[in-house]
Amino acid sequence: MARKKINNDWPIVAICYDFDKTLSPRDMQEYALIPSLGIDDPKKFWEESGKYAKDNGMDKMLSYMKLILDKAATKDVYMEFNKMGQSVELFDGVETWFDRINNFGKENEVNIEHYIISAGLKEIIDETRIAHHFKAIYASSFVYDAYEKPIWPRQVVNYTTKTQYLFRINKNCLDLSDEVSVNKYLEESKRRIPFRNFIYIGDSDTDIPAMRVVRREHGHSIGVYNPKEKGVEKIEENIKKVSDLIKQGRIDFFAPANYSEGSCIENIVKLIIRQIKANHNYFILNDQLQNINLQQKEILKETKSFTGFTELIDAIATAENINYEEINALIEELTKYRKDEFNKLYKNSYYDIKTFLKIINSYGKKLQRKLLDYEKINGTKNNIIEEEASE
Ligand SMILES: [Mg+2]
Repeated sequence: MARKKINNDWPIVAICYDFDKTLSPRDMQEYALIPSLGIDDPKKFWEESGKYAKDNGMDKMLSYMKLILDKAATKDVYMEFNKMGQSVELFDGVETWFDRINNFGKENEVNIEHYIISAGLKEIIDETRIAHHFKAIYASSFVYDAYEKPIWPRQVVNYTTKTQYLFRINKNCLDLSDEVSVNKYLEESKRRIPFRNFIYIGDSDTDIPAMRVVRREHGHSIGVYNPKEKGVEKIEENIKKVSDLIKQGRIDFFAPANYSEGSCIENIVKLIIRQIKANHNYFILNDQLQNINLQQKEILKETKSFTGFTELIDAIATAENINYEEINALIEELTKYRKDEFNKLYKNSYYDIKTFLKIINSYGKKLQRKLLDYEKINGTKNNIIEEEASE
């Protein structure tokens, strides 16, 4: 599995691929597995598996896995998955695709992670030439006995369970036996890879639920078709399949499954990566602006106390007669404002320095005059007021 260094300041983009007919032109079982079971025509295998599923009201994936187990047991076949993986054919450009996209990510300061979500067999995908590019490969697989014979399905991935893996990637719960954290509520902002940073690439109906989840959560879905199939009619049929998906709003884009440099899908994926990066920058800038907004609201709260202070000044300045209790109360109010607070109040006030000082002076002088009048009668003195008044 790919172990890449992650730059924590960069957004992560998760590109999730279906495998059969998305990265490879045929079902992976057809290259070596089905022939190894002594079946010369893969069509026969799929027909038998399809019939078994229908007759028993069975999940199609479980049906094909059971057929493999049954056939392998009767023929005593040793599953050479490494050879089976190596013989899997890939669409044009797939082998160089991952490095190209990763480099593009680096140039744009984006971490790219690739994931497989396939109903095919993990054992085969693990042995393909591209396996090391994936952070995780989610696919159906078997458990084995002591003689390394497959005996039972370990994981079964079908069209609806595909969505489970999207949530695992989104929430970073990659351990498949962990059913708790994948279902636990986690705010979208706390999830490792937000859905808007997902790109899902698939080819068929079995990808519809996954494509829909990704699209619904503001991610991006791309449908691909085999451009090299024999016969124009077959290609047209393939195009129709994906173009129907776009009409039904299940995917955003469709492209031929050609991953070569300069291909249609490369262009689309690169643009999406750039858009995700731009969105990421937007969210950072938005956060910064929100912070300034919050700070300003805090300042406004302080300015409110400044308003209270000026109201106090106005009250003193306009009072005709002021008695001892009132003066005492005003002194108490005034002492709440220390020198450094005056500075702070000024900084956060709407007034320019001249107006501000005028207010302070006028307040000080008026209060001082009233106090002196009072002292003439009572012989008391208040130092605080003198200090404030002389500034
Ligand atoms: Mg497929």
